Parts: sequence; structure tokens; C-alpha cells
Amino acid sequence: MQRMINGKTQKIGIIGFPVEHSFSPILHNSVFNALNLNYTYIPLPVSSSKIKEAVQGLVALDFAGANVTIPHKVSIMEYLDEIHETARKIGAVNTIVIKAGKTIGYNTDGDGFLISLQNNNIILSNDYQAVLLGCGGAARSIACSLIDVGIKRITIAARNKQKASSLIESLPQKIELRALDWSSKGFEEVLVDCNLLVNCTPIGMSGHPQESLPVCWECLHPSCVVCDLIYNPPITNFLSTAQKRQHKIINGEGMLVEQAALAFGYWTGVNPDRHLFFNELKKITTTF
Ligand code: NAP
Repeated sequence: MQRMINGKTQKIGIIGFPVEHSFSPILHNSVFNALNLNYTYIPLPVSSSKIKEAVQGLVALDFAGANVTIPHKVSIMEYLDEIHETARKIGAVNTIVIKAGKTIGYNTDGDGFLISLQNNNIILSNDYQAVLLGCGGAARSIACSLIDVGIKRITIAARNKQKASSLIESLPQKIELRALDWSSKGFEEVLVDCNLLVNCTPIGMSGHPQESLPVCWECLHPSCVVCDLIYNPPITNFLSTAQKRQHKIINGEGMLVEQAALAFGYWTGVNPDRHLFFNELKKITTTF
């Protein structure tokens, strides 16, 4: 049965622009419902010029927290009272908790990705070599988490080598890091030693023009795990090709669910059953 909003309902928002594409309101509201928690999750489209006022508004309206999505994950940081260590390392916030009028920024994306690997029995070690395709916010979160784990090497391959290089330069230089233009010859060589290949671009996403990622499939060892951060569709062309070539594949559903569940825990103190999120996600992706 649908919960009623009342005077005691705790409010969580999602700040981004646009936000209507986000699955998060449906996911979180369904799980609040299923667990009978008196919370509600509200989409809050906020333009870039109004971020400061939006943070002040969340506090003034007694919100318990929020998610932050594109394009505000970096720019919102200067308006928060505290930034958790992980979010500071990543340089972006995707979750805000508000306690006694104080705003604290977290980032659950990188940990969400690592947990989704663990759930698929991928145990990272110091001989792993990862290749990330794309150099935006998601690539950055994942690179930071992989550096923390202490794998051997991360290569960021993108259409714009300059952007990939600036990302590499801004990361903690604790492991081997390199940037590549993915149309260069060097890219094929890197794929030969790759154990973990991750699509961190929107190529293949529903509603996005269908292009192919320039991966030399023959170069990859069959044991290389192939991941896509995209969850809609659940199997992108990239994953479908990898699957046909016998690679173990992991899509973005696990990361989406884990980062959401971590944020949910920060707001409510409840560690939710991940199946509740997975079931809801399945309903949404089959409808859209
Ligand atoms: P972002 O910051 O906008 O970065 C996107 C990256 O992809 C950039 O490097 C961009 O290159 C590249 N790119 C975009 N379109 C391209 C194209 N047509 N050809 C080649 N490269 C292209 O986005 P993000 O936040 O990192 O998100 C990336 C993907 O991950 C999205 O599909 C998003 O939905 C997904 N994601 C999933 C989760 C999850 O929980 N599963 C979490 C976060 C993100 P330029 O800089 O050259 O434009």
C-alpha cells in the first residue's frame, strides 16, 4: 500500500539538470515504501546559476539529504559544510546528508562499482590492469576507487587524449597511470594485457546515438572482464559483443543499485536489501 506523506515525512531530493530522466525517485520511493520508512524522494531540477540557493533551500526546508547528478556533482562542493574523504579524493559529490542544519557531501559511485565487482566474484589484486573508456565523472570515480584498491595499472582511453591526460594528472599517482587516444596504435597494445575493460561513456545508452566503441576484440584475452556502466538497456551492443566472445560481462545495474543503497544507508541508517532495488529497476527498464 502507498504510504501517506504527513507532517513527519523526511524529505530527500535529487538536484541536477535535467532530472526527469533519473530512475532514482522511483527506486528510492519504492524501497521507502517496501520498508515502511516515512521518507519521500523528490526530483528537484536546479540550473547551474542556482546551486548555492538550492543547497540553502534544502537546509531551510529541513530536507534530510539529497542526491546530486549531472551537471552539479563538482560545482556543489563549495556550498557544502563538510566533504567526506572519498568524495574529496574523487573531487565530486553524489550524495548529501543534512544533520542539524549541516550539509555533508559523500560520493558512493566508486564504492558502488567496486561492490558490484565483488558481487560478481571479481577479486581485484595488485596485478590487475584496467582500461577505462571515456574520461568523465564516472571514469574519475572508478579510477579513484581502483587506485585505492591498489591495482597495477589504469589506462584511460578516450576520443580526446588531452582530456584523458588531465584526468590522469589529477589522480593520486600511487599506481601506473596512462592516458591514450583510443584511435591510436598504442590502444591495441594496452588491450592485450587488460584484465578489466570498462565503458564509462554513454555510447550504447538508450536514447543515445548508436555508435561502436573502438575496441580491438581480437586483442583482448578471453579472461578479460568487460563492464559497462550503462544499465538501460541492460545489455548494450558492447556487452553483447563481449558476451559472444565468451568474456564475463557486468552491466551498470549493480553499480546503480549499490551506489543508491549506500546513499540510502547514509540518509536512513538502514542497510536495505539490494533485491528491492533490483526488482524495481527491472520493472522500470522493462517499461521504458
Ligand atoms: P560524463 O562526465 O559526461 O563523461 C562522459 C565521457 O564519455 C566523456 O569522456 C565523453 O567524452 C565521453 N563521450 C560522450 N559521448 C561520446 C561519444 N559519442 N563518443 C566518444 N566519447 C563520448 O558522464 P559520466 O557521468 O562519466 O557518465 C558516463 C556513463 O556512465 C553514462 O552512460 C552514465 O549513465 C553512466 N553512469 C552509470 C552509473 C551507474 O550507477 N551505473 C553511474 C554514473 C554514470 P568528451 O569529454 O570528449 O565529451
